Amino acid sequence: MSADATVEAGAATTGERAEMVRAENVHKSFGHLEVLKGIDLLVRAGEVSVVIGPSGSGKSTFLRCVNHLEKINAGRIFVNGDLIGYRQRGDKLHELREKEVAEQRRAIGMVFQRFNLFPHMTAMGNVMEAPCRVKREPKARARERAVALLERVGLGDKVDSYPAQLSGGQQQRVAIARALAMQPKLMLFDEPTSALDPELVGEVLDVMKDLARDGMTMIVVTHEIGFAREVGDSLIFMDGGVVVESGHPREVLTAPKQERTKAFLAKVL
Ligand code: ADP
Ligand code: MG
Repeated sequence: MSADATVEAGAATTGERAEMVRAENVHKSFGHLEVLKGIDLLVRAGEVSVVIGPSGSGKSTFLRCVNHLEKINAGRIFVNGDLIGYRQRGDKLHELREKEVAEQRRAIGMVFQRFNLFPHMTAMGNVMEAPCRVKREPKARARERAVALLERVGLGDKVDSYPAQLSGGQQQRVAIARALAMQPKLMLFDEPTSALDPELVGEVLDVMKDLARDGMTMIVVTHEIGFAREVGDSLIFMDGGVVVESGHPREVLTAPKQERTKAFLAKVL
């Protein structure tokens, strides 16, 4: 899809790939509970970062902060050069209003554990919805693109099916097509296969691997270590609201440096 574009953009700016996500010292609390305790992360255009870690370590919260579904208490997050939640004018920062936040969020696609499809709309209707409503794309054009996206996720024969008529794996693939319909520069996946029956996991991972090979920048929270090994450019182990260890998946998986990483991997591998 945008592989050439992203690689070119990177090469044009720095000689290496452009930065797509930069998180600096991100803190997030809910009341007295400090969930993120200074997260740093860099993802370059076209890279796949896989985030692993025990339940409650702050993985979902971090993704939600990147997408500005949660407001951070300290630190900064840049996506594609834009400071999330703010607009820079000269040397002044203005906090974005709700509507502007929504606009900033458009560059980011998110896929959740639960598919959250509109039950009263067909697969095609679900994929067309945001381009028509948000971007005011003409119906015929949106329909054409929706069909192409559904074909891309292997559901060319299901365009007229309703979510209830689809398996969990098929619904999750519709959810991926729906996120892609807004032509995001970044895709966030929050345990996209955790709610699926084991035999349906592979078809969703295959679609994600295709996307990765096509050059999409992705942050993927998952317990699917094989996915990290196969397409991950980096593997990040989070625990207790901090990044305990990160590096190339091969290194982290075969020679983890931290005891906490070793203990976690022993449980999931
Ligand atoms: P993970 O995705 O790694 O399992 P989460 O980011 O979902 O972890 O949660 C991290 C911690 O933050 C948990 O203790 C969770 O209960 C808490 N938490 C998450 N969202 C909220 C919220 N909206 N309000 C209060 N606590 C929350
Ligand atoms: Mg989570």
